[in-house]
Amino acid sequence: MCRMKISDIVSSGRPSVSFEVFPPRKDAPFAPVKEVVARLCRAKPSFMSVTYGASGNAQANTAEMAEFVQAQGVPALAHLTCLTSTRDRIADEISDLRRRGIENVLCLRGDRPPDATEPPPEHFRHAADLVRALRPSTFCLGGACYPECHPECAHFQDDVAHLKEKVDAGLDFLTTQMFFDNNVYFHYLARLRNAGVTVPVLAGIMPVTNGRQIARICKLSGTVLPPRFRAIVDRFGDDAEAMTSAGVVYATEQIVDLFANGVNAVHVYTMNKPDVAERIMANLKGVVS
Ligand code: FAD
Repeated sequence: MCRMKISDIVSSGRPSVSFEVFPPRKDAPFAPVKEVVARLCRAKPSFMSVTYGASGNAQANTAEMAEFVQAQGVPALAHLTCLTSTRDRIADEISDLRRRGIENVLCLRGDRPPDATEPPPEHFRHAADLVRALRPSTFCLGGACYPECHPECAHFQDDVAHLKEKVDAGLDFLTTQMFFDNNVYFHYLARLRNAGVTVPVLAGIMPVTNGRQIARICKLSGTVLPPRFRAIVDRFGDDAEAMTSAGVVYATEQIVDLFANGVNAVHVYTMNKPDVAERIMANLKGVVS
């Protein structure tokens, strides 16, 4: 069992590369996903985050998957969303994570369901409310941030002000939404530092393997595809093998550039694709030890 706080990992001064996986749906078999996760762990990420509910009704399996990650010798970060959960249910989830030896929680609001009305009073409204509820604990707490502004927020300065509130509520680190232009990250980091946000900001990198899917995701998340990357998607988007190769190279270049310019912590949205993670780690041989 490998227990370690992410705040300690990212402040060690050594470059860190973390991965992300999603657990199986509640009614789907665990074994094939465990095989994938074990293979991802053998690529030696600094830690592995496990999403919550991002794959249908997969919430129930996040804690179990995080425990499995740690049993492979890799520290785990369990995601937890709050908008559609009651406070009692969140308290149960937290007890479960503690019982399983998980030390790191990514505190998230979660996306609004399409038919959403105002959340009832027994639900948290914002991720910051979840952070306030968990902060008295010894968990290392992370939160999400958006270098190109959260899509629901009309003004960037308001989004940064809300983020500052969330960090002040007790966050230890942030992880960014994916971005495809490193200048977007560097400008955002400067903006956060000016606003008094001092915690580590892990740079979120998405190796794109599916051209059509990424165009849709970017539209929803407000992420801009820079012309250099758009040309790659236009040219190779319909050819899975070519798109994967180009996506791995593009992600590797972004990561090398980030490390070369003083960023110490990169979070790769590997999802459940060990081949992609292995290719990126092979490219980074010597860059990260
Ligand atoms: P918040 O921090 O609550 O912010 C959401 C919006 O509310 C923003 O527009 C913000 O400006 C605004 N806001 C915040 N505080 C206030 C306030 N006091 N008054 C008015 N407005 C306010 N989703 C999942 O379902 N499962 C996952 O595992 C998951 N993992 C993710 C991991 C990362 C790294 C990222 C970047 C996103 C992830 N998401 C996940 C998606 C996330 O749940 C959505 O982006 C969601 O819409 C916002 O979540 P948040 O925690 O950033 O919310």
